[in-house]
Amino acid sequence: MNYQLLKTLCETPSVAGRESRISSFIQENVKDFFDEIEIDPLGSIICKKFSKKKAKQKILLLCHMDEIGFLVSHINSKGFLFVDPVGGFDPRNLFSRRVLVCTENGDYKAVMNPPGKPVHTQSAMDRKKIPEPNEFFIDMGIGEKAKDKVKIGDFVVMDEPFLELSDKVVSKALDNRIACWLGMELAKYIHENKLELDNDLYIVFTSQEEVGLRGAKTASFTVNPDIAIGIDTTLACDTPGVAEQDWITAQGKGFGLHIKDGSFISDAELVKEFVELAEKNKIEYQRTILSRGGQDGAAGQQSGSGAKAIGIVVGTRYIHTVTEMIEKNDLENALSILQKYIENK
Ligand SMILES: [Zn+2]
Repeated sequence: MNYQLLKTLCETPSVAGRESRISSFIQENVKDFFDEIEIDPLGSIICKKFSKKKAKQKILLLCHMDEIGFLVSHINSKGFLFVDPVGGFDPRNLFSRRVLVCTENGDYKAVMNPPGKPVHTQSAMDRKKIPEPNEFFIDMGIGEKAKDKVKIGDFVVMDEPFLELSDKVVSKALDNRIACWLGMELAKYIHENKLELDNDLYIVFTSQEEVGLRGAKTASFTVNPDIAIGIDTTLACDTPGVAEQDWITAQGKGFGLHIKDGSFISDAELVKEFVELAEKNKIEYQRTILSRGGQDGAAGQQSGSGAKAIGIVVGTRYIHTVTEMIEKNDLENALSILQKYIENK
């Protein structure tokens, strides 16, 4: 499996609304695999592979390419940066972080910290305080010169390298570069095996999912699919401090077959079809329900006059932190089911 590709995807900084770098990388690497590629006004990449058959459907795969991060919202007189989050951060995970400030003229390594005093001089009250994300500040180490280098609207990402741990991988952006990886690897598989598809396939790398499925909404309107598949991470809370009924998924038990989340309920017939396919091909899977949160599959389902929709997800520990962790086997199972579905449909 091409984990070098996943590493590159995860380490390419591109937050919601600032997807140009990841978009260029994906376009460059998939351009030979499709009949047509279109970039829509929100920046989503709509990749099309047409069937030569007559009675065909349009199958849409949605893979969001943005990661959570920040836009610079203020630079103060001392050159400290303040930021506005794009995507949901738990502020407890923002203490003392290395970050990358990304501008048109280059990237700058920097650190992020909460306001206030260090442990030596804190009061007991100070120690309990958890600031809001927009209270944290970034120190680039260049004082007032920051004003010459950075402007409001430039973006900031966490600066943490990709890590491979035998059966697992860890990164700040597995949500949702695993879906980009799945979309790219699926396209390569179809191309290399010269598969003749019975249906038109649209693999869309969407923008701005983390701020409300925005890219998926417009791209789905353009494609007007019959079947929409949202590909994303989901929670794997099989870790200390969480009751078993709240795990959502457990790692190493296969890809996640999305039954329901806060944004959509999968089509029951489509769920059955995927279950039969997984069982026939001995691909491990687990059924998952997430009571809150959403993903691009919802936008596909509710586009135009509606589509049958499902989600293919990968259980991820410590989601929306720099230590997001997946099990390789779960990801590989997700690729297998997508390959089988597309070649048999
Ligand atoms: Zn996601």
